[in-house]
Amino acid sequence: MPDERPEEPMQPVEPTPPADGVYDAIVIGAGPAGLTGGIYLARARRSVLVLERAMAGGQMGLTELIENYPGFPEGISGFELADRMKQQAGRFGAELREITAVSEVRPADGEHVVVVDGSEITARSILLAPGVVPRTLDIPGEGEFFGRGVSSCATCDGFLYRGKEVVVVGGGDTAVEEGMYLTKFADKVTVIHRRDELRAARIIQERAFANGKMDWVWNAVPKRILGEEAVHAVEYEDVKTGDVGQIAVNGVFIFVGQLPNTDFLQDVVKLDEAGYIVTDALLRTSRMGLFACGDARANYLKQIAHAVGEGALAAVQMDKYLDTL
Ligand code: NAP
Repeated sequence: MPDERPEEPMQPVEPTPPADGVYDAIVIGAGPAGLTGGIYLARARRSVLVLERAMAGGQMGLTELIENYPGFPEGISGFELADRMKQQAGRFGAELREITAVSEVRPADGEHVVVVDGSEITARSILLAPGVVPRTLDIPGEGEFFGRGVSSCATCDGFLYRGKEVVVVGGGDTAVEEGMYLTKFADKVTVIHRRDELRAARIIQERAFANGKMDWVWNAVPKRILGEEAVHAVEYEDVKTGDVGQIAVNGVFIFVGQLPNTDFLQDVVKLDEAGYIVTDALLRTSRMGLFACGDARANYLKQIAHAVGEGALAAVQMDKYLDTL
């Protein structure tokens, strides 16, 4: 049987701004959750504006190689996956807008106003997908040398350390994966971890332990980053003995977890004690018309595959909600 379905155009559809100036939906955040929400809402023929801060893809966009997102057996770069998701959202008519920051979300006559870089945009529903930002250590030298020896992005800064030695702080998936990526450039990557066991997934650990350029300092926490013009050492403390040691390095990469990007949502929707957005099983927040998905939502799995599923579920629920208005 020939396939008689009409062909969808491959070019992006020019988004049509809503005639009354009120979008059906604004998506705050263009990581995998927000972009998937944008794809589903646009395919439901809703007028949808996706607000992206800095680079699309959120944390995913900064990941060198993603190996556990189905459909890409050889892996895919986070930047390319984000770009593909953006194209897909645009293809169905989602409007994507690069912004600096959302400062406020407030109700207005049954609708919702989003304040973006000083301008107000109105929508009938909002999808909150603001993602997370890297957590910092708050130790002397960290802020001072950030951007000139201290980094939280191996993809962005790794090439600066060709032939040099770096320290990675943390023992989770990000620290170990990004540490291995850094061995492409650096001669030696020393991981400082506060326990004697990694949190990272087993397959990631196996590869890291087999990598001859990786070295390990267990049961230790960094206390100071030392340098003058540039970083030249990290001082650390053994958490069991209290002994203090130093490692001479040129760069320090900090991957000690993440914090939800939800400061602008205080007093807007219910957040948990760590600042993650609380929703019900249908991804509805405590405020009618506001839905949430992705890493900034209080959930149990921070994975791209999961974020994509949440984006789809939230968008379908929003479509149903919009039908009731
Ligand atoms: P994470 O899993 O929260 O790990 C943070 C690491 O930093 C932990 O090892 C933690 O030590 C350590 N740490 C936290 N605070 C510290 C401090 N003050 N001083 C020293 N060390 C500290 O964060 P993540 O690695 O960024 O991952 C975030 C989420 O994304 C996770 O759910 C992860 O599975 C997911 N992710 C998945 C992939 C993948 O599937 N390939 C890749 C990247 C991220 P403890 O272990 O002692 O707590």
